[in-house]
Amino acid sequence: MSEKIRIAIDGPAAAGKSTVAKKIARKLSIVYIDTGAMYRAFTLKAIECGVDLEDENSLVELLYETTITLKENGKEQIILLDGKDVTEAIRSQVVSNSVSLVAKHPLIREDMVERQRKLAENKSVVMDGRDIGTNVLPHAEVKIFLIASVEERAKRRYSENKRRGIASDLEQLKAELKERDNRDMNRETSPLIQAEDAIAIDTTELSIDQVVAEILNEVNLFLHKS
Ligand code: C5P
Repeated sequence: MSEKIRIAIDGPAAAGKSTVAKKIARKLSIVYIDTGAMYRAFTLKAIECGVDLEDENSLVELLYETTITLKENGKEQIILLDGKDVTEAIRSQVVSNSVSLVAKHPLIREDMVERQRKLAENKSVVMDGRDIGTNVLPHAEVKIFLIASVEERAKRRYSENKRRGIASDLEQLKAELKERDNRDMNRETSPLIQAEDAIAIDTTELSIDQVVAEILNEVNLFLHKS
């Protein structure tokens, strides 16, 4: 693809954003940037360093001396925190339940957004998160907002955990997803919200391939328009 295209995919937790984004990136041979993984990696470090997650100034000092690298390793994306592979560790329950506390701080977001924009500079990307279409890449050529019922999202997370050998409770997962979405939607800085020019896709009844096809259709519409 010769033309530069930026695809922003936002939506609540466990709506299938990263699964879909990875497939799109592979199909179009463009870079995938998982911004949630960046917030997760930093949250892991803050927990390990014993920093109070409500203490924005201490957190931001720690962030300034933190490197987070997203690396392609054949078919997988690897997340390096200060050079150490944390791909698995950032998916733990404790990180999932703490990350939205860290991500609400304006100074943390400012620094993360700057890093994310640099990663996307001068190239075609698909980026997923909560504020990509509204804030990180407001001029993205294609903006998607993925939604799904909380029941369906909890079920998907439950199956994913099972595949990875992690025992979980469906009702508890549902409550945790709701709490995280609430925090993400109600924070003051760049809350989770659908961009005015984003296309909403409800994935509750759709397969991954159907969602991918819908997004690729939007990409083609853009490419034929320009
Ligand atoms: O996408 P994922 O569920 O891994 O994101 C983890 C958390 O990181 C979100 O619940 C949210 O608090 C935060 N996040 C964010 N902005 C982004 C991406 C993630 O605030 N662009």
